[in-house]
Amino acid sequence: MKRRDFVAGVGLGVLSTSIAACSKADTTNCEPGASGQNFKWNMVTSWPPMFPGLGTGANYLGQAIEKASGGRITVKVYAAGELVPALEVFDAVSSGSVQLGHTGAYYWKGKSPATQLFGAVPFGMNATEYGGWLYQGGGQAHYNKLYDRFNLVPFLAGFSGVQMGGWFNREINSVDDLKGLKMRIPGLGGEVFTRAGGISVNRPGGEIFTALQTGDIDATEWVGPYNDLSLGFYKAAKYYYYPGWHEPNAALECIVNKDAFDQLPDDLKEVVQLACDSTTIRMHAEYTRNNPRSLRTLVDQHGVKLREFPRDVLKKLQSISTEVLNELSARHADFKEIYDSYTAFYEEVQPWHDVSERSYYKARS
Ligand code: CA
Repeated sequence: MKRRDFVAGVGLGVLSTSIAACSKADTTNCEPGASGQNFKWNMVTSWPPMFPGLGTGANYLGQAIEKASGGRITVKVYAAGELVPALEVFDAVSSGSVQLGHTGAYYWKGKSPATQLFGAVPFGMNATEYGGWLYQGGGQAHYNKLYDRFNLVPFLAGFSGVQMGGWFNREINSVDDLKGLKMRIPGLGGEVFTRAGGISVNRPGGEIFTALQTGDIDATEWVGPYNDLSLGFYKAAKYYYYPGWHEPNAALECIVNKDAFDQLPDDLKEVVQLACDSTTIRMHAEYTRNNPRSLRTLVDQHGVKLREFPRDVLKKLQSISTEVLNELSARHADFKEIYDSYTAFYEEVQPWHDVSERSYYKARS
């Protein structure tokens, strides 16, 4: 191998060419489709180390790729800040300085506002519906096309499920109560909140608690009971509102550098896909296991007051959400193309979920 090729190979995470298991004398270890090449990959993430749900999901993903590939791909997982900061994951993978990343698509609206449609949409689809659109309704083709521009191959790799509406220090009885309220609520939800009269700001996860406690912000959303309990928000705010109208589900993503992905033989490409699919199911399960327990702890042990947003507040926020999404569609052709596909699927699935999911929740209550 020429040195130049060798150096390029290292950049793509190609560790070595191992044909030892495939000797001429004994071919019993030669798996069909195996290239004999090993790959050493690094994964950067947007999460603190072993962060509940998101970080544990990223770690699971790395292990799943490694184990299912029989060690032909090794994955070293880095928490936010260890190799690159949380919000530089996209650039690090896009440039090829690392092979893959685990993150959330809503962080990349500066790259293209359309990425937000693969993260969380206010009053949009829940996890089940989003999965239906992505895998069966044409969503993945749009996802691939959008990310191809950045030399990335995107995969769904995790669901948060329905989030909570957030932590407040006063009760929200009408839209007027949102006026002048300074809340940590990023992304599309933040834009909606601002138009409803509030002041939306962003703060990284590690800074929210202090901001809330010192009065720098009046309110915050984060994820749900499992994550919110671990950050101790109950010590700084009394009212815990639901539902998370702004994030009816967060879809997490695994992004792979396209050059690195193209180096993989077909069987290892499939390993990456299957590991991502498995991460999605297991992360959702982890939230389903831990959110109810954490909510009980918050209410029973810490005296948190659980409140539902009043119907007219939600109605107002919903109409502003539609306005914001339509404006983005009018301004960006790629946003419109994807949002049209998203909306068509959503409109088709809602009457069915009225008959199935909604009706069943009512029946069993
Ligand atoms: Ca959130």
